[in-house]
Amino acid sequence: MMEARLGVITCDKCGLPMKERKPVLVMAEGDIMESDDELTFQGSCVRYACHLDCWDGVEEDARQDGR
Ligand SMILES: [Zn+2]
Repeated sequence: MMEARLGVITCDKCGLPMKERKPVLVMAEGDIMESDDELTFQGSCVRYACHLDCWDGVEEDARQDGR
């Protein structure tokens, strides 16, 4: 289980508040502290948070591969 504290309470996609008990998607920035068979990740800040329903995948810009 992971617990994170968000500095914003609104969805980065639709701008509406994210309420408790609603499924959300959070992207966190942090460091890998250990790498064996598993990675131990220590998060330092949240880069992006939105409702799970609002998530439509990676932004188009990020996956332009020149096709
Ligand atoms: Zn939303």
